This record gives sequence, C-alpha cells and structure tokens, in this order.
Amino acid sequence: MSTPRPEIVVMKFGGTSVEDAVAIKRTAGIVAGRHAKGLKPVVVVSAMSKVTDQLLACSAAAYAGRGDKDVAFEISARLRSRHIETAMQMTTGDRLEGVLAVIAENFDGLDELLSGISALGELTLRTSDLVVSFGERMSSVMVAAAFAELGLDAVQFDARQCIITDNTHGKAAPNEQAIEAALEKLVLPLIEAGKIPVMGGFIGSTPEGVTTTLGRGGSDYTAALVGGGLHGGAIEIWTDVNGIMTTDPRICSDALRVKTVSFEEAAELAYFGAKVLHPATILPAVQKNIPVWVLNSRNPTNEGTKIVATPAVCRSPFKAIAAKKRLTIIDIVASRMLLAHGFLKAVFDVFDKHKCAIDMVSTSEVSISVTVDSNEALPAICAELRQIADVNYEGGKALICLVGNDIRGHAGIAAQVFTAVQHVNLRMISQGASEINMSFMIDEEDVEEAVRSLHKRFFTAPDENVFDVEARAVTVG
Ligand code: ADP
Ligand code: ASP
Ligand code: MG
Repeated sequence: MSTPRPEIVVMKFGGTSVEDAVAIKRTAGIVAGRHAKGLKPVVVVSAMSKVTDQLLACSAAAYAGRGDKDVAFEISARLRSRHIETAMQMTTGDRLEGVLAVIAENFDGLDELLSGISALGELTLRTSDLVVSFGERMSSVMVAAAFAELGLDAVQFDARQCIITDNTHGKAAPNEQAIEAALEKLVLPLIEAGKIPVMGGFIGSTPEGVTTTLGRGGSDYTAALVGGGLHGGAIEIWTDVNGIMTTDPRICSDALRVKTVSFEEAAELAYFGAKVLHPATILPAVQKNIPVWVLNSRNPTNEGTKIVATPAVCRSPFKAIAAKKRLTIIDIVASRMLLAHGFLKAVFDVFDKHKCAIDMVSTSEVSISVTVDSNEALPAICAELRQIADVNYEGGKALICLVGNDIRGHAGIAAQVFTAVQHVNLRMISQGASEINMSFMIDEEDVEEAVRSLHKRFFTAPDENVFDVEARAVTVG
C-alpha cells in the first residue's frame, strides 16, 4: 500500500466555476491560496457551464438529419466562439496562440465527427462519448493556460491517460488499480516537480485508448478517483452553493448549509437526487478515508460542508431532503405469487438483464411494486415481465428522500413526516434497510410543495452544531 500524501489536495471545479474569464480568474485565486499554504493542488475541471448539454444537443441534431444538421454546426460554431473569446480574455502572446491552435484543432475534429454522424445516420454511445469529451478537453487546456498566465506553474494533463475504464460508454466503470498505477507514473512526477496538473473531469478511456465518460456529473467522480489514487489528504468539490444544503436551494431559498455529514449520508443524498455530488464520488474517498469538502467558488471563505467517516452528534432527525424526478413505478401482480417459488428472483432477473437499477421496492402477498429511472428499456422490460405477471407502469413520478443518521432514535418521526405532506398523494413508502433514510414516491408536480413543507417542518429550529443557521443559502446563477 502506498503511503498517504496529506499535502496533495484534489480541487474539482464544476461548470459554473469555469464558466467565463471572471470565474476562471476566481478559481485561479482559490488554487493559488492552497498552493501558498504549502499544499500541492491537483485541479480537475468540468466543461464550461452548459457545454456538455450543448454538445449533446449537437450530436442529437446531427443525427436527426438534413435540416437539423445546420443546427448542429451552428451550436458548434457558437461553442467555438465562446472558447476563443474566453481564451483571448485570459491569455496573451505565444500562450494564446497555443490555446487557439488547440481550440481550432478540437472544433475541426468535432465538426468532422458531426458530419460523420449526419452522413451515416448513426449515433452510438461510443461516438456520443467522443463528442461530449471535447467539453472537458477544451476547458482543461484553457484553464491551465489561464493559470499559467496568472503566474501558477500549471500544466494541462489529458485525463484519458490515467482514468482507465471499461467500455460501458455513457457510464463507464473505472478500473481503480489501473488508475492508481497511471497516476503514480504520469501525474505524481508533475506534482513532485512542483507543477499543478490541470485535467478534465468526466472523461476517461478504455485500456485500448477509446474515449469514455463516467456519466453526467462525473467530474466529481474523477476528483475522488484522483484523490484516492494519489492517496491525497483532501478532495475539494468547488461548486456554486455554500456546500451540501438541507435541500436544493433552488427549491427552498432558505435552505441551510450542513456543516458535516457522514460518508453514508452524503452517498444516500447523492444517490437520491442531490445533484451537488455525483453518487459514486464518495466510494474512493471512503476506501482511503480521505475527507471530502463541498465548497463555494463564489464565496471561497465560507467553510462549506465536510464529509467525514464519523458524523457529528445531531439533535435534528434529518440532515437533508433530496428529490429525484423522472421515475417510473412498475406494479407487478402475480396471483399465484404465494405459491410460485422463485417469482421474486424471476422479476429481479429481468431488471438485471436490462442493467436497470431499482430504487425502491414494496411487496405484498400477491404483488410487487418497484421504481426505476424512466428509460428506453422499460417497454422491453415490461414485455418480459408480462410473461410471468400482470404489469402496469406509470411515469412522471418522483422520490423524496429524507436522510439523517439516527432516524430510528426519534420516536414518532414517520407520523411527523406524513403530517407535513398530508396534502400530497403518496404512492410508495419505505424506511428501507438503511437506517439513514426515509423515502416515498409522489407525482413529479408535487415535488416543490412536498419539499418545502418538509423543510419547514424539520429545519425551522435545527441543531446549531450541525447546521449553519446564520448564513442562509447563497445561490447564484
Ligand atoms: P457543478 O457544475 O459545480 O458540478 P451542479 O449543478 O452539478 O454543480 O451541482 C450544484 C447544484 O446542486 C446547486 O446549484 C443546487 O441547485 C443543486 N443541489 C441539489 N440539491 C442540493 C443540496 N442538498 N445541497 C446543495 N446543492 C444542491
Ligand atoms: N460536464 C459533465 C456534465 O455536465 C461532467 C460534470 O460537469 O461533472 O455532466
Ligand atoms: Mg455536478
């Protein structure tokens, strides 16, 4: 086992933290601050804000064919201009020439790809990964050059050389051993030479060198893989809010910063919809017991949220409320279920075969209801299930999940939750095997009302040791 390197800090900056020249300058200041303290930063950046969405729109338009092909090239041209303008605001002389050459080469490559998609009328996940990879490839080049211009000894490093994954395009699984070896071989020497590596998050490659991505929001995951692989001292996720809040501040403007959460609570929140953190981020950090911080790049002096192994004692039953939309409930009824040994297995095998993860399950003697992310495989899954049962499914659902580390220690908590949302039609309820979450399904259009009512009920007089009651949510953007 490698020795820990507490001086290494992996700093991940999300799309809003690199959205334009002003944001990139602010980011450089934050990194310089860490460096001045004697720490060794490794920087992971997302694509500039909204760029991934726009690249996806590009490839969809190219695939849609004739008229829309022009739309694809228009989006690409706009992205090209945005990158050129930002580079020109940040860099000068030879450095600017170098960045402009890379931007030109990359966007020419993107346009060629779009022509290919349009001509062939084919868009595989593999091609889509290549298209979206341009976002992080470009942002990392631009940010590294900007940092250098501002006096930091920064170098761009192509993350695909060290984030080695399988070939599940769109949501590739990382190979942590191969990543650790590549980081030690390629990134550690840069750090030891006093440089600040800047790499794109989200992107990786197969051992054969084919570009992959880690799934939407995957730059957080990259940061954790890099922090874990290098045995660093901390992983910092810099975003546009003060940390993990009691709920999405876009839903409740009075959401409070949570000062500390446990790895388990953070993982549960992320999985059940708190977009502030990618669900897989926590794993590599837990394995190596590396603290993760969630911090606000627009308010860098704020303490943020610390995610740690042992949570602080909390008087309030819940730490936060998450909501996950675009879910489907599938009701599966087998009249002979009591007799049919192996029925549940047969049902779960169908989901497994389609690689479809189930969020929630509830069973009665004759029926089972499950919830899944709405996805294209649903008709096929239901057709297969109909061979063994009656099946109905309904989309447009959402899961509300309340997370806290001692739910069972608070008597009558379920009654309080359901009183708070008594005007909302509840579909499935689960306190789950995990002691730290309580969740239920509702219609998507009821999410805002349910979250606000629950937030009012549980966070009006919260424990001041755990929640920052002074500073209310600072959301910008
Ligand atoms: P980034 O681009 O930095 O990765 P994201 O947009 O992925 O940022 O995540 C930050 C956003 O997550 C916030 O702006 C906020 O709207 C949303 N969010 C959802 N739930 C929470 C929560 N519990 N705490 C903080 N932010 C949350
Ligand atoms: N740019 C990617 C996305 O928008 C990854 C990330 O930002 O974390 O999903
Ligand atoms: Mg994110």
